[in-house]
Amino acid sequence: MGRERINAVTTSFFGRGSIGLLPGELKKRGYRRGLIVTDRFLFEHKAADRVGEQILAAGAEYAVFYLVQPNPTIQVVNDCIQAAKALEVDFLVAVGGGSAIDAAKGMWLFYEHPDTSFDGLRQRFLDIRKRAFKFPKLGQKAKLVAIPTTSGTGSEVTSFSVITDKQNGNIKYPLADYRLTPDVAIIDPQFTRSMPKSIVADTGLDVLTHAIEAYVSVMASDYTDGLALHAIEMVFTYLEKSYNGDPLAREKMHNASCIAGMAFTNAFLGLNHSMAHKLGAECHIPHGRANAILLPYVIKYNATKPTKFASFPKYKEYVADERYAKIARRVGLCSADTPISEAVDCLVKAIRELMTVTERPLCIKDCGVSEAEFMSKVDELSYKAFEDQCTTANPVYPLVSEIKELYREAYYGE
Ligand code: NAD
Repeated sequence: MGRERINAVTTSFFGRGSIGLLPGELKKRGYRRGLIVTDRFLFEHKAADRVGEQILAAGAEYAVFYLVQPNPTIQVVNDCIQAAKALEVDFLVAVGGGSAIDAAKGMWLFYEHPDTSFDGLRQRFLDIRKRAFKFPKLGQKAKLVAIPTTSGTGSEVTSFSVITDKQNGNIKYPLADYRLTPDVAIIDPQFTRSMPKSIVADTGLDVLTHAIEAYVSVMASDYTDGLALHAIEMVFTYLEKSYNGDPLAREKMHNASCIAGMAFTNAFLGLNHSMAHKLGAECHIPHGRANAILLPYVIKYNATKPTKFASFPKYKEYVADERYAKIARRVGLCSADTPISEAVDCLVKAIRELMTVTERPLCIKDCGVSEAEFMSKVDELSYKAFEDQCTTANPVYPLVSEIKELYREAYYGE
């Protein structure tokens, strides 16, 4: 991670650009000891060491917590806090995919405020900016730096931390508050070179889902639309090339992931993510793969004029179908005068093609989930998805029975 290779963005839209660590700089700024939060694979493949060398050169010490696993749990967060407390760290560096970054965000919160109630944090609210339960202010004891190694979640710039409560029903909760946004995000494509093809594909399709959901969200705005549309275009242009190992395309996908993150941390997501959170946790399907499988079904559902209207007061009229059509036109999947419903079909077809060229399963059944197991869980999955924080920003307010039908369709595929 030579200095000249570091591109960094601050977490503000109006950040001042590049940040590089100078020799002795951490010491000069009063930082003494850091904890790198990562997973075993990245630890063994020296990603943490590369960051650690920079920390040492900048005059601080560090230790590594490398026990994060995909879909981080409350237990992992607690273990990580014990390490941070023992070392009295004053900065945290998350090095990894969404799992490592989310675990670090969770531990950051409880390291600084051990008495915070998880039950309070997980309460969903239509607009998190106006929530009754207040997240505590972070950054008094430690600063958080996030270095993503997958090009998918955008967690390095988002207000979300997705934590699984294994002991109480194995539920995946997207905790959401701007106070969880890392202080610094370092977007360096070098960290993505070791990704195997399947992770490139799963996480790349996660980017697409973020950007599409942000674009049709009831909280979409002029500011988020530009980011979302650009990220969608980048995925259609670069994901297949990145999958086939093109280094420039890999870098572009890394940027697209962060750009989509900036879009959805402001516009939020939707039903697709609600369903993917519950499906991934229960059936052990990687997050991006679960999102991609559900995406064509959720798009078709959202693109059908609803009987029950979305509840966000600023979403005055239903426009989701037109918005999907705009995406298809913008990406060049159809012409400007293609009717809306045909344009939506073009978008769905293009997503399936992208999944096919990147060798992804197109239905839940093809992920090795048995029919008996899935059908025994589908009622509960549907209730849990309805309850998920992300459902609140979906352009159609779903009935639990409709969510169940979507799960069933996505199980068998077309
Ligand atoms: P991940 O972090 O779970 O990692 C998946 C696998 O990829 C792991 O085995 C990891 O070791 C490996 N890996 C990571 N980087 C690698 C690299 N450079 N080379 C080789 N292997 C590498 O995967 P993810 O998709 O990045 O994150 C998924 C998690 O993020 C889920 O829990 C999901 O719910 C959450 N998420 C969070 C947000 C948010 O805003 N906070 C948004 C979307 C998803």
